[in-house]
Amino acid sequence: MKSKLPSPALPSPALPSYDEAASLVAAHAGRLAGMRPALLPNKEPVELGQAPGRVLAQPLMADRDQPPFARSTRDGYACRAAEATAHAPMAICGASRAGDPPAGPLPPGAAWEIMTGAPVPTGADAVMMFEHVETAGKAKIRLLPSRTLKPGDNIVAQGAQGHTGDVLLSAGAQLHPGQIALAAACGCAALEVFRKPRVAILSTGDELVPVDASPAPGQIRNSNAPMLAAMVDEAGGEPWILPTAADNALALDDALALAVTADLLLISGGVSAGKFDLVEPALARLGARFHFIGVRMQPGKPTVFGELPRNKKANSRSKKLPFFGLPGNPIASAVTFLLFAAPVLAALAGSRDAYPRFALARLAPPVDRNGKSGLTRFLPAFCDFGATAGEPPQVAFVSWHGSGDLTALARSNCFCIVPEDAKGLKVGSLVRILLP
Ligand code: AMP
Ligand code: MG
Repeated sequence: MKSKLPSPALPSPALPSYDEAASLVAAHAGRLAGMRPALLPNKEPVELGQAPGRVLAQPLMADRDQPPFARSTRDGYACRAAEATAHAPMAICGASRAGDPPAGPLPPGAAWEIMTGAPVPTGADAVMMFEHVETAGKAKIRLLPSRTLKPGDNIVAQGAQGHTGDVLLSAGAQLHPGQIALAAACGCAALEVFRKPRVAILSTGDELVPVDASPAPGQIRNSNAPMLAAMVDEAGGEPWILPTAADNALALDDALALAVTADLLLISGGVSAGKFDLVEPALARLGARFHFIGVRMQPGKPTVFGELPRNKKANSRSKKLPFFGLPGNPIASAVTFLLFAAPVLAALAGSRDAYPRFALARLAPPVDRNGKSGLTRFLPAFCDFGATAGEPPQVAFVSWHGSGDLTALARSNCFCIVPEDAKGLKVGSLVRILLP
């Protein structure tokens, strides 16, 4: 713990473990999710093309039964299952293709040619697949002797997926391609969604120049701002990149004053123990309440989480602005965003999708990883999700030169987790990965 910090704001001198920090974040995210309707009540309509990632603000109702008619799931012959299973020749007495109106009735002992997606004629209770029948005289077929048929085979009954007026998706559902398809099937060309939370991104550091500037010796381009903006965007927020703040008290005070109208504040850099890491004192000057300062993890050890009181000028329904101070090293910023900021952002966005997202994968060669560092580690790794059938995906560490290694970050697609108490990670064992 850093001695320069004002002690009244600090919860405890011992750093929380990653699990403890994650529980704290989850508790605050849960509280914010409960307050969300009051904090961010605004809704807006979006067309389906703009809907990916947005969060539904009102239930999606079925405007008619789904499917709207008993639908054949195969190309074949509609029939009565009991009659077909007698294997006697059946006369083909009609044909329906997708788009035809419901036909029938099916005469006794007859079959009706039908295509996938066509309405099943009244009287039929099953569909024989083309591949399962043989011709049995002129315009007659019969079910192959090796086959049987039960009522309901190859038919989805009208309303099997939902009846007119049913709630098919409730508010809070995040809209991915499947949800968008369902909305389209219900005749919704536009959906009412929650306003995106506005996420201020404040980069700090005297060494930073914008991406389009030529860095002088000793300077580097600000890569965290566009990275965090992309992460905010993917997690359902509206990024608001603030001008970079220099490493001095005045610049930080001015920048934080500007940020107070945001719904969430991400500060990159300036939270380590160095002489020019001045973010925590600046937050403390504004009366910040810190939930944690530092976490037993690597990268990301200096991460800070807390709330700033807002003054009246902030013109916000919420009296407090949640903030994260993320370490400036890009991999540390990325990992701590995914682990801590994403769940809070999801709560503010009204999403019920779970963040962070973890999976299991089998550790591929070449190396075992040592454990017992006393820190939970999140190491850049590449997971091959195209695993052999029946096998979990394979994950391998990406070689890196520490948490500032942007090329390692760009070559990775997940982070492999080494628990702080693990004896080590063995090649071939199942390991937990953090997904982007
Ligand atoms: P800090 O957390 O401010 O001590 O920064 C740790 C390291 O991350 C230093 O090498 C910084 O130059 C680098 N860094 C800080 N902010 C950024 C940024 N916005 N983009 C890229 N690198 C950064
Ligand atoms: Mg710095």
